[in-house]
Amino acid sequence: MKLELQVKDIISKSILTPAKGALEGFSHSLNPYAGCAFGCKYCYVRQLPVSLYREEEWGTWVDIKTNAAALLRKELIKARKKGPVTLFMSSSTDPYQPIEFKTKLTRSLLEVMLEDLPDFLFVQARSPLVKRDVDLFKQFGNRIRVSMTIETDKEEIRKAFSPSAPPIPARMKAIQEITEAGIPTQATIAPLLPCSKEFPKKLKQIANRVVLDDFWMGDGSRGKRTEKLEIRKIYERMGMEKWYNPHAYKVVLKMLQEELGHVELLVSQKGFQPGEQ
Ligand code: SF4
Repeated sequence: MKLELQVKDIISKSILTPAKGALEGFSHSLNPYAGCAFGCKYCYVRQLPVSLYREEEWGTWVDIKTNAAALLRKELIKARKKGPVTLFMSSSTDPYQPIEFKTKLTRSLLEVMLEDLPDFLFVQARSPLVKRDVDLFKQFGNRIRVSMTIETDKEEIRKAFSPSAPPIPARMKAIQEITEAGIPTQATIAPLLPCSKEFPKKLKQIANRVVLDDFWMGDGSRGKRTEKLEIRKIYERMGMEKWYNPHAYKVVLKMLQEELGHVELLVSQKGFQPGEQ
């Protein structure tokens, strides 16, 4: 049974966090919310302090950082004094999860950025709601990339690993519309989940580039974090153990190389860098 989502307004002390680890190419990460209603089973944030020191289960709570826009206005000025400002939004929440329909908090952050344009903004989402803000994305010119996570093309697989996240066809349609609006985009297969042979073809028309990552390259611990989350059991339950393997991505990579043609293809961390590659 799905637990009811606990939503709370909070006052945050800061909004820009110095980027590190896999995001070290960026100056800061930016999370408008704490917690995430999508609650993906493989989400590595489950093992970070923000989740560990909380009684409620990851995926059942969201804190709204109500003062995020005011903080951002101030912190952007400070950050700019120290060098280029390259933002990753978001690293430990989805900036376009359902509560964003009502709060428009992420949208308000984009509006603040447009007053004082950062050198680069990377928007990472799993939700079709992201297309609502196309009008604002357009004003960033080439200082933005919008990335949609599309881990698989199979709905039954998506439902096994992230039952509360939006359906894959809706995500594909949304990123295609954003691409067609002339905004730099990315279809992000991360983490790679079992998929069909048609997956590369489906991705070809919908984004300017495709990025492939898996648990072993992308979880920051060569797969140990994923092992602790017992993701292996989901593969076993579904009889898909052969996909739970650090070499499985190579098969999909080859298919993507053969299919994508002019569409740029990057692997793991190279697909999460600010600016033109
Ligand atoms: S959408 Fe991202 S932050 Fe939210 S649960 Fe899934 S992986 Fe974690």
